[in-house]
Amino acid sequence: MKFWSELTKQINPYVPGEQPQDKEYIKLNTNENPYPPSPKVLDAVKKAANESLKLYPDPDSNKLKQSISEFFGVEKNMIFTGNGSDEVLALCYPAFFNPDKPILFPDITYSFLPVFASLFNLNYETIPLSEDFSINIFDYKKDNTGIIIANPNAPTGKYLELAEIRQLLEFNKNSIVIIDEAYIDFGGESAIKMTGEYENLLVVHTLSKSRSLAGIRLGYAVGNSKLIEALNRIKSSFNSYTIDRICSAAGIAAFKDSDYYADISRKIIKTREYAEKEFIKMDFKAIPSKSNFLFVTHKNIKAEQLYISLKKNGILVRYFKKPRIDNYLRITIGTDEAIDELLKTLRIIIKTENRD
Ligand SMILES: *Cc1c(COP(=O)(O)O)cnc(C)c1O
Repeated sequence: MKFWSELTKQINPYVPGEQPQDKEYIKLNTNENPYPPSPKVLDAVKKAANESLKLYPDPDSNKLKQSISEFFGVEKNMIFTGNGSDEVLALCYPAFFNPDKPILFPDITYSFLPVFASLFNLNYETIPLSEDFSINIFDYKKDNTGIIIANPNAPTGKYLELAEIRQLLEFNKNSIVIIDEAYIDFGGESAIKMTGEYENLLVVHTLSKSRSLAGIRLGYAVGNSKLIEALNRIKSSFNSYTIDRICSAAGIAAFKDSDYYADISRKIIKTREYAEKEFIKMDFKAIPSKSNFLFVTHKNIKAEQLYISLKKNGILVRYFKKPRIDNYLRITIGTDEAIDELLKTLRIIIKTENRD
């Protein structure tokens, strides 16, 4: 311990969902896509691997930014790319926030957000979601150094209408508003279309969820070119080559094959709607979701008990032992087969629990 900095001693690192190696699980705990990436992505990755790995990649990821810019119809200088959206979010902290005022985000949201604040020695204030887990934007009408909202929110899956985000931007013009849209492709509408209008709006996306590329680590942000310049200044003070050649090739190919991705997102939405109905039949309450997961609570069986029993049966879901949500499970929408297996197992567990 004596070689540890004060920061290392104090920090409480983020803990991602478990990736156990002891046996094969049906993994419904980390919101990965159950479908593989587009075959065109795999071809592009192979090609990139065969070409020029001995050379450094382009530090500015120009070709990748070009393909993202064409996809969304925004200027290339409005795009920043990073090693997963986790890195993009991390770089936002030193780029935009000062310690004199708090960063505002919901009490229940992506649990990485407070970790970044401690890492960069910044202050934050959590704003409680209402009883039904919805965000009331008027609770954010207070002095701040920036606001971060995940939309749809995680781990609730609840979606905030764009009109409300617009209202938030209208009354909060003196600091940045960051919208983390990791799950936007599962039924929501992106705020990217407002980035030309609001110079303080930054929208963060990932290729980990809807584009089936969690293994490649690619995320990006879209916003006013001045915001992007700030992120570039911080990134270039930390690591010049955050996007490697294989990652870049995969990203470019993914943006080209939009039909493939629209199709798998549609499938996931359909499975989610089916799963929601089945959960309700089993006496669960499900929060309305526009994401690739459902946040559910059972009428009489504790979430922790269900989590443990499911794991024993080879099915992993996410359980958070945290205030307000410790009786909920976050369940990733898998293939129809995986969800049927989950439902079948749950029916047996619930029957046994109810009998005891
Ligand atoms: C998964 C997730 C991320 C992280 O995505 P990566 O690009 O894999 O780092 C960011 N925000 C939220 C809300 C997420 O659920």
